[in-house]
Amino acid sequence: MLVDRLVRRGYIVSSVVEEAMRRVPREEFVPERLRSEAYVDTPLPIGTGQTISAPHMVAIMVEKLDLKSGQKVLEVGAGSGYHAAVVAEAVSPDGHVYTIERIEPLARFAEGNLRRTGYKDTVTVIIGDGSKGLAEHAPFDRIFVACSAPDVPAPLLEQLADGGKMLVPVGSRAYQDLICVERRGHQLLKENYGGCVFVPLIGEFGY
Ligand code: SAM
Repeated sequence: MLVDRLVRRGYIVSSVVEEAMRRVPREEFVPERLRSEAYVDTPLPIGTGQTISAPHMVAIMVEKLDLKSGQKVLEVGAGSGYHAAVVAEAVSPDGHVYTIERIEPLARFAEGNLRRTGYKDTVTVIIGDGSKGLAEHAPFDRIFVACSAPDVPAPLLEQLADGGKMLVPVGSRAYQDLICVERRGHQLLKENYGGCVFVPLIGEFGY
């Protein structure tokens, strides 16, 4: 079982993340012809040159986000909707996830997957340039960017609540570091969680 392996390998540490990942059926978020590979720990193509992230990367990011029930979360890069669904489980029952996707057919794919699996009311999919954030629903308790940026996008920093945490892969198009930024009043505390590789954030505050 995939989740058991992620626990054994130390990617999943908390019961919140373990339960969230057990609840979300990853096979419902990949193209039908790839369903048999849904529980292999690898990224998979979801069309238009994009990928659903590898389960261990989802586990790492959800652990680092330190999610609590009731939080309002912003994701940049909805893709298949899978990562948003896992986060929605972790902030349930009263939390909400807004996820932005710039490629319309993928946003529709995510929306359909989320509706079919029961996340229609807890995840809102928005089509647009997520590098600008989502000012109308800010501030957010947590923000995570599922694609790589040349720097931490300034609008996302502005939209992070006091006490909030943001995760964003920052670096070149080829290789990035997973950066965590925590807002404490006027202070921004940064931590580097090490190397990762994501598809690029394309937009006004991306590449
Ligand atoms: N979280 C997704 C999942 O669970 O399937 C995987 C995300 S995929 C690695 C990165 C996504 O970011 C792609 O779907 C891509 O189109 C999207 N993206 C890139 N730049 C964007 C932007 N400026 N705004 C919104 N989405 C963007």
